[in-house]
Amino acid sequence: MDKQQEFVLRTLEERDIRFVRLWFSDVLGFLKSVAVAPAELEQAFNEGIGFDGSAIEGFARVYESDMLVQPDPGTFQILPWRAESPGTARMFCDIAMPDGSPSYADPRYVLKRTLERASDLGFTFYTHPEIEFFLLQDKPTDGSRPTPADTSGYFDHTPQPVGHDFRRQAITMLESMGISVEFSHHEGGPGQQEIDLRYADALSTADNIMTFRLVMKEVALEQGVHATFMPKPFSEHPGSGMHTHLSLFEGDRNAFYEAGAEYQLSKTGRSFIAGLLKYAGETCAVTNQWVNSYKRIWGGTQRTAGAGGEAPSYICWGHNNRSALIRVPMYKPGKDQSTRVEVRSLDSACNPYLAYAVILAAGLKGIEDSLELPAGAEDDVWALSDSERRALGIRPLPQNLGEAIDLMERSELVAETLGEHVFSFFLANKRQEWESYRAEVTPFELRNNLHTL
Ligand code: GLN
Ligand code: MG
Ligand code: MG
Ligand code: MG
Repeated sequence: MDKQQEFVLRTLEERDIRFVRLWFSDVLGFLKSVAVAPAELEQAFNEGIGFDGSAIEGFARVYESDMLVQPDPGTFQILPWRAESPGTARMFCDIAMPDGSPSYADPRYVLKRTLERASDLGFTFYTHPEIEFFLLQDKPTDGSRPTPADTSGYFDHTPQPVGHDFRRQAITMLESMGISVEFSHHEGGPGQQEIDLRYADALSTADNIMTFRLVMKEVALEQGVHATFMPKPFSEHPGSGMHTHLSLFEGDRNAFYEAGAEYQLSKTGRSFIAGLLKYAGETCAVTNQWVNSYKRIWGGTQRTAGAGGEAPSYICWGHNNRSALIRVPMYKPGKDQSTRVEVRSLDSACNPYLAYAVILAAGLKGIEDSLELPAGAEDDVWALSDSERRALGIRPLPQNLGEAIDLMERSELVAETLGEHVFSFFLANKRQEWESYRAEVTPFELRNNLHTL
């Protein structure tokens, strides 16, 4: 038994923890949990705890359903909303097959494999997500229109207590679970919040995002509101993105930084961005995995048309340009280590393990192939005409889930990164979602056609 495992067992006793939840993610990024008694943990560390994988979305077929969860002691935390004795704790888990080999269905393993590839090239991958979501008055279970929990806007600090108290309680809870928060503010839409996590290695960030979504829902419940990470719950307000700042480190040196280079961005940084751009279309089904995701990433700031509201719609990069898919933030003198790129397509309802894996794979491919970075977009790309954009070589992101799936299906990069199992499950599942959406006659059609046609 190693030191971390011993620490966990000791803490269970000292803090009177009676339940340990073993957490993992299904292929779509839904959190799964099995609770075990502390007495089972030694076995869980040594061999894992068996469960029926066929009951989990995307894990296994019925005839090969036995799987094991193996807790990662480094992720042990007490759940603050269940802290009073007897308390509850959690650990993230890896999924293994009965013979002990890692399961190819496990999204965490997909990210770990990709991080290993980065490490073979000498890099550590860091991410810093800005997570946006809405607070609603309550949960509409019948699919009716949601009501935002407040009427504030961007950076508003009003006496309306909901968002304010909410953020304070939520952040206290995150911090007590070892998740550092850097910024938080009211976002542009009514009821919309943003909380930004401090940068950390990508595996920790992905685990933290899974925790974050649950914590927001718990705090919302306590405050009598409902938190939703749906990418675009309102036609008339901006959607919820999960812009993510990325950097690669070589040892303790930021590999994106080069003194004196344009924007202080190294060749490695430039090729990484070139890779992100080249593969942006085919990785989009993973970074933006729902039918609803595509209601967010189009149309820029034209709010009247019900469009994205500062969400990217075109594949280009820019220096400090918020209309671009990728933004290179302004360099602050002396802050060499914080040179980074911001990817703005991801939404808050992605599977963070898979999304970070495909993004990293795209960037690494850019570095391996020494891709040249095209010129940055200095204009507001949303304001250009289609032909101006075409002349600049700027392609749109996929316009809907169907298009995104078609691009992904032909992608060697995504197939290799996700592995055969996750790749084919994901495609089949998303194809099904797209088809049931296509089959549905929508309120739009009824409103516009029923009386006139
Ligand atoms: N909500 C916007 C999006 O969907 C971002 C707004 C912002 O952070 N400037 O990406
Ligand atoms: Mg922000
Ligand atoms: Mg924001
Ligand atoms: Mg941002």
